[in-house]
Amino acid sequence: MSQLVEFREAVGTEGAVCVRGGATRWDLGGDPAGAHEVRAPSGVEEFLPAEMTVAAGAGTTLAELTEALGASGQEVALDGPPGATVGGTLAVGRNSLRRGRVGFIADALLQADCVGADGALFTAGGPTVKNVTGYDVCRLLVGSLGTLALLGRVILRTRPVPEASLWMAGELAPDRVADVAYRPATVLWDGEWTTVRLEGHPGDLRDERGRLAALGLGEVDEPELGPCMSRWTGEIPAGAVLDVLGGVVYGDRPETLTATEPGVLALAGRMRDEFDPGRRLNPGRDPYRVAA
Ligand SMILES: Cc1cc2nc3c(=O)[nH]c(=O)nc-3n(C[C@H](O)[C@H](O)[C@H](O)COP(=O)(O)OP(=O)(O)OC[C@H]3O[C@@H](n4cnc5c(N)ncnc54)[C@H](O)[C@@H]3O)c2cc1C
Repeated sequence: MSQLVEFREAVGTEGAVCVRGGATRWDLGGDPAGAHEVRAPSGVEEFLPAEMTVAAGAGTTLAELTEALGASGQEVALDGPPGATVGGTLAVGRNSLRRGRVGFIADALLQADCVGADGALFTAGGPTVKNVTGYDVCRLLVGSLGTLALLGRVILRTRPVPEASLWMAGELAPDRVADVAYRPATVLWDGEWTTVRLEGHPGDLRDERGRLAALGLGEVDEPELGPCMSRWTGEIPAGAVLDVLGGVVYGDRPETLTATEPGVLALAGRMRDEFDPGRRLNPGRDPYRVAA
């Protein structure tokens, strides 16, 4: 708790402020416009393998969290580059490439202890999976780029690490995969080739590998993807690949923004007014100025 109090004091009650995580996506959604930078508390606080939850400071790196959970064969549905923090990954809100198995990142956040724009500590959600009466504020916070509240400490849902995994690729329409493979973790499509990641029990994977091999897919190494470019708009540019389950296109070209409906923007603006009427939190950032 003392780390949270220190965090609240660092945020204070006046002036523009933002949290710096690992700064791997620092420019996403705009520049913080000279806002005072603070650090969120860090460290894995309490891991309850039987409850499948973990409490950690939002400034904890994903690497540290992965190591702590891995000892009990568990993981969380958060994914990011080296140096990424738990809070930054939630604030960015991009789903894991393994979404077909690990689920949505928003579902991983059970509780968030935050500092709001008024400088007060508040808690959203609760430590159990069925934890919400009324509005589910945790879901609003994921992907908000720290514009609604600053995450200090979180409780995340954990899940078992799969016993086995493999990648396969071949010339096949992506929807054919669902006929022969149970919940593939990842399905990538470049317009001709489908690349699939399977996860699960070794026996099940052996059967699925056999069925996909019969359709012409062979085992491959994990593919290297370019940086994310845009949301799926119905076209895959040359050299790019669609994450079929995530609806995101990866490639080496500059990211392209997709227009957001005016009604959605208006609603988001009203919500930001409610959470942060003085625009203290990450003033230069806009979660809708993000390609995917
Ligand atoms: C499959 C996949 C691939 C990805 N690949 C890449 C990649 O190749 N390169 C890449 O850069 N990213 C990638 N990402 C996104 C990645 O999740 C983010 O880059 C990273 O997690 C951000 O964490 P960070 O600690 O570096 O955040 P920062 O860059 O420090 O911050 C990002 C934003 O979050 C806000 N923020 C940070 N901490 C908090 C907090 N505690 N409370 C409120 N707001 C906060 C910051 O103010 C800022 O607006 C990928 C994600 C996935 C799922």
